[in-house]
Amino acid sequence: MSNYPTDKIYAYFDGKDLSGLCNRLLSQQIKTWRQLRENYELLKKTKTRTISCNGFTVKIQHNPGRATSTLADTRPEAIESRPCFLCLSNLPEGQKGILYRDFLILCNPAPVFYHHLTINSIGHSPQQIDKNIGFLLELTKDLGDGWITLYNGPKCGASAPDHLHFQAIPRGNTPLEKELNHCKKIIMSSSTPHAFIYYGDIQGRVFFILEGNETQALEAAFGGLLHALKSALNTEDEPMLNIACLTGEEGLNLIVFPRSRHRPHVFFMQDGDRIAVSPAVIEMTGVIVTPLERDFLRLDAKTLESIYTEVSMDKKTLEAIINPA
Ligand SMILES: [Zn+2]
Repeated sequence: MSNYPTDKIYAYFDGKDLSGLCNRLLSQQIKTWRQLRENYELLKKTKTRTISCNGFTVKIQHNPGRATSTLADTRPEAIESRPCFLCLSNLPEGQKGILYRDFLILCNPAPVFYHHLTINSIGHSPQQIDKNIGFLLELTKDLGDGWITLYNGPKCGASAPDHLHFQAIPRGNTPLEKELNHCKKIIMSSSTPHAFIYYGDIQGRVFFILEGNETQALEAAFGGLLHALKSALNTEDEPMLNIACLTGEEGLNLIVFPRSRHRPHVFFMQDGDRIAVSPAVIEMTGVIVTPLERDFLRLDAKTLESIYTEVSMDKKTLEAIINPA
């Protein structure tokens, strides 16, 4: 404990009411940290609109404050040449957090939603899910019913692929959390008595849901899914994926979005043809964040479905996971 920089710690989690502690952190940070206060003022001015498509909805948010994140250069050479902005010694002066296990829970300086948290590892270690899935499940349990926790893989959405971090947002902000209850889900034969595994798709977004009460059973089921993804993709590296985790009627729901690529081809087009959409986990939950007003106005259901289909795992690979040889 003595190695932790105490000037960055607002409070210590003592096992009780993490959600309440996070609410108090936000109030304190808005009062004392000017950059955050200003960015929450800007958040109030963001415009949103909703697009309906085959019974599902996507919210589009025009948020100029997210330009750095949406347009971030996450190539290894770019990452190596910049100081890590998630390391404690590089945090903005006014930023403080809650010490939670070996992580610091912080207010995201560029919020997409009112009360957007980032949960950063104290140490500088790479973004990687296999050893940290248990942490994500425990964090989701400790935060309780009012939150969704989020993970971006290092090659598909994490703005700092070199520093382990998660996010959390309040429930009620994403279309997906409601739509999961009525979209078509098929149970997989790899389900166990304590961890049910489903797959399905919404508007081109392929997903797996792991559902259960017992953290250890879910961890084991996730390990099995990760292994199946690696086998199907013939890789030892972490397959591209995003994760959202929330509590449900049957315990925890771990939603895994396997990906085929980070950014759609329209992101790389020139001038007027370019669409600055960079799908990460928030986009996969049905909220498209775009820093440019032009894109905010012109995105439609057909374009969104084609972007989702392009960045999600293809049907042939999915088939190899559902019905392994
Ligand atoms: Zn770092």
